[in-house]
Amino acid sequence: MEYDLTVTYTLSKPAADLQDFLSAFVDDAHRGILQKGAREEGARITEWRHQGDAITLRILSRGSIRSHQAAVRVYKALSQQLGQEHHIGLRDMALHTYRITMDLEEEPQEPVTIPFAQVTMEGKRVHLLIKNREESFLRDNYVDRMINRVREKVEAQRYAGKKEYWELIWQSPAKQPAWQQDPSEELQQRGWLAMGTTKGKWFYRPPAAAILRAMENLALEEVVRPLGFQEVVQPMHVSLATWLKTGHLEGMPGEIYYLSEPQTRDPRQWERFVDLVKITREVPEEELQANLKVPRAGVCYAQCPNIYASLAGKTIADDSLPVLLFDRSVPSDRYESGGRHGIERVDEFHRIEVLYIGTREQLLDLREQLTQRYRHVFNHILDLEWRMARVAPFYLQQAGIAGDEEEADRGTMDFEAWLPYRGDREQEWLEIQNISIVGDKYTRAFTIKGQKADLWSGCSGIGLERWMVAFLAQKGLDPEGWPDGFKRYCPSLPPMTEFL
Ligand code: ATP
Ligand code: ZN
Ligand code: MG
Repeated sequence: MEYDLTVTYTLSKPAADLQDFLSAFVDDAHRGILQKGAREEGARITEWRHQGDAITLRILSRGSIRSHQAAVRVYKALSQQLGQEHHIGLRDMALHTYRITMDLEEEPQEPVTIPFAQVTMEGKRVHLLIKNREESFLRDNYVDRMINRVREKVEAQRYAGKKEYWELIWQSPAKQPAWQQDPSEELQQRGWLAMGTTKGKWFYRPPAAAILRAMENLALEEVVRPLGFQEVVQPMHVSLATWLKTGHLEGMPGEIYYLSEPQTRDPRQWERFVDLVKITREVPEEELQANLKVPRAGVCYAQCPNIYASLAGKTIADDSLPVLLFDRSVPSDRYESGGRHGIERVDEFHRIEVLYIGTREQLLDLREQLTQRYRHVFNHILDLEWRMARVAPFYLQQAGIAGDEEEADRGTMDFEAWLPYRGDREQEWLEIQNISIVGDKYTRAFTIKGQKADLWSGCSGIGLERWMVAFLAQKGLDPEGWPDGFKRYCPSLPPMTEFL
């Protein structure tokens, strides 16, 4: 790494000759603030210039004390010494030019771009050129994050198109399916299910609603309540600030349904909008847009972020561990775009999400118990052909799974079911739910602490549509043919209105 920064410090007033002062300051700095804490050679000021109310320095570094970090240290020392010796203050500092050279492990496959810098590449070497930025740019460590982002983007090129890591853990025996139809199609034929008026949302008429709710009761009675999870009710809106902490905002910004508040509820502001509605009988889109604020929130994507947000900053008593909560109050909305299909991949779905916070040992134990409960449901109540697999996004593969023991404790287990209507028993499996342990990622992001213990957390999302579609795809729509275990939860279906 090479950091070459030209930074300008603005004085509170013009100063006379500072040459002697500066050369003494630079000598001092080299021995002191620019060396302090450095593993090897620290940062060095190689040029300095003073004119009127401006001091300009060139700070070079090989990375032990990065030049922008050095510039902040210099600011503090300079303002102290100028104050003492010349009764002059510092008004601000600004980045004039910053050239960073970094070496990558592998040659990028394509050029990358990044905000705030011009990026040029030669082989494994990358140059960033940054110009004319304000003080906060240096103080807030943008540069470090830009460097990480460049590495991340180059890495991502290698994994583009590769599938996620997947390792089979357990598989049920094959089971004879009752039929080979797509249940979503048949549900629509019968009128039990109707398309909503916006993308990827369904209207469940009573028979279909009864099946979905039976799945919910089953999950509550056989999994959630026996393990001691307690119910919460949460807002449907999630602030973007919360997703900034969980990582959803950088992870899946294109899947979020954003929410806008009105600019105002003052009828005068909405007068033209109402006039246009009344006259044209259409939605005046431009006028609407003008009356909306920029989104600060979105519709729930998964229930866990709001639960973490509700616990932010709390210290949890040892006696209360593990914290076991679940939510079934809000649906999850995701913009699935091209991937939508039937009720199994929709833009709005219903999940019970259970969330656990505790010590590592508590969570490992809990994962075991959850797995046993799910196993019981799929084997003895729904009687599914299903399997369990350990999964990881491709980029985590090297870091995780095969890594150290703690690393192996984290991670996600997917539960999948075969969809006979799609054919190929080798290929056509659908994730119906998962169990994750995320280590201290979220407890740290939301500053959730234990009295002594370091807290880990995780969640398990039970997709009710997914349970329903897997069950119906394998067992058919005729309640007579359903396994007894499920009949207990859905003894009969309500009659359907006849449409003429
Ligand atoms: P996929 O890879 O299928 O898109 P995902 O990794 O996005 O799934 P998670 O965010 O892990 O899914 O969500 C957990 C559970 O939520 C899934 O196991 C599934 O039951 C349910 N789920 C996720 N997306 C959908 C969807 N679009 N429609 C219905 N259920 C869904
Ligand atoms: Zn979650
Ligand atoms: Mg998805």
